[in-house]
Amino acid sequence: MQYFWISVDARYSSRRNVYECTLVVFETKAKKTIERSHVIKKRASNRKSALQWFMGASKLMEPEACRLAITSLKHKSFPVMGYGILHFKIGSFVHDKDSTVAAVIKKLEPTALEKLDPNHVIKNLSKEVEEKAPRIASIIVSSFRKALKLANTTTNSNEKLQALLKAYPQHLQNNHSLCDSGCPHTIKPEKLITKEEAQVVKEIFDKRIKYSHKFCDIACNSQNNESIHSTICHTTPKTLDFSRNYCGRADLAIGERLLGKFAQLRKIQRFIGSLFVIPKEQAIKLDTQYHQDKIRKQSKAYKERRVELRKTKLKFKLKGMEFVSSLIVGAHVSIQFWMDTHEESYSSEVSKTVEKYCAETNHHHDQILKSI
Ligand SMILES: [Zn+2]
Repeated sequence: MQYFWISVDARYSSRRNVYECTLVVFETKAKKTIERSHVIKKRASNRKSALQWFMGASKLMEPEACRLAITSLKHKSFPVMGYGILHFKIGSFVHDKDSTVAAVIKKLEPTALEKLDPNHVIKNLSKEVEEKAPRIASIIVSSFRKALKLANTTTNSNEKLQALLKAYPQHLQNNHSLCDSGCPHTIKPEKLITKEEAQVVKEIFDKRIKYSHKFCDIACNSQNNESIHSTICHTTPKTLDFSRNYCGRADLAIGERLLGKFAQLRKIQRFIGSLFVIPKEQAIKLDTQYHQDKIRKQSKAYKERRVELRKTKLKFKLKGMEFVSSLIVGAHVSIQFWMDTHEESYSSEVSKTVEKYCAETNHHHDQILKSI
């Protein structure tokens, strides 16, 4: 049996008067979006009739979206390169809110294990140490991080993590009786903690040891969901109201992630019968460039340079930005207008594409482009 290690997250069209909800299911080990579902509420002004409308309360939209996505996943088989068609079962799931999502998944897939996002566990721990032992907060948080990282280099990460967390309160007092061969058996003086502090650390770590099986695997995190949502935020900025076409725009963002920004643009241009369609080779080239640019922008050197530039060119930049941001808002308004008038056909076209590519867990960029 093959397993999925998924991460689920839902977003709404707006904070109040929610009409649309999009839920994204991400495979954490393959790093691919494998499913998404939309729940749209019935409104008096709704023109469409093809879709199923949701009639319940807003807070029930997320569990409903989850039910749709998980049910669909349960009945799907995925082509995996070199293996043919495989049927998958959900091995574990991560979610970051204490939402009703967990209850829905447990009901549909009782053997799936509930996991916690390690980054949220660290954040939580940091808050607690900051309160109970502020002097050593940074030492403890970095020790915890290190333990997690070390544990993930072994095959039995949970056992290793527990052993490390038990050893740390002693280790930080320069007592290495519980440490393994990986420890240098010395400690820098600035990292030393007192006996009283060690007691606090022990309490904090012991609490986490009890449920360490839920977060010991750092691959099972919801970071990638958050990065998809940052793409969604680009296509649906908070300053504009997307309560009528949020799902379509969310699909646009997911499609961008699956296809590539310019490959998708080409697809849209062809769909709407645009006079100018970006050539296929050009789209491939631009997407490769865009991808490389993104990696470059994540580098430390680039970020440091940005900070430097901001210091020296602050005034100039601000002046330029006013002009640029009004242009961006203008572009979004015109896209929204276009989406409102073409919503039905466009949304269904994008949905079809997303559904198609969601079904392929192991695809390559070139192959997708060939099929457009
Ligand atoms: Zn040690």
